[in-house]
Amino acid sequence: MINGSECRCGFRTISIRPSCPICGKMMVQKEFPDEGRVLSYTRLQVPPEGFNVPLDLAMIELQEGPKLVCWTESELEIGQMVEVYLDQNMFKCKPLS
Ligand SMILES: [Zn+2]
Repeated sequence: MINGSECRCGFRTISIRPSCPICGKMMVQKEFPDEGRVLSYTRLQVPPEGFNVPLDLAMIELQEGPKLVCWTESELEIGQMVEVYLDQNMFKCKPLS
């Protein structure tokens, strides 16, 4: 599960926020399923030092709405279902098997 926040107005985010950036109301903490869909991705031609090649950045939409950017060392396709996980404080994703 991925910790985030949800507002009554429908805004959802994977960060823990006390108030909603859309409507200003109090947000409640919520756990989101760690499965989502690939919206888009891009390959970094010159990855940061210490990272393996190939290295892609993917925009993932979790099943219950929030979107996040993940690192991945997997080959992805648009629309593919992936598992999102934390690795050394970074979100990463890999195809669901
Ligand atoms: Zn709101």
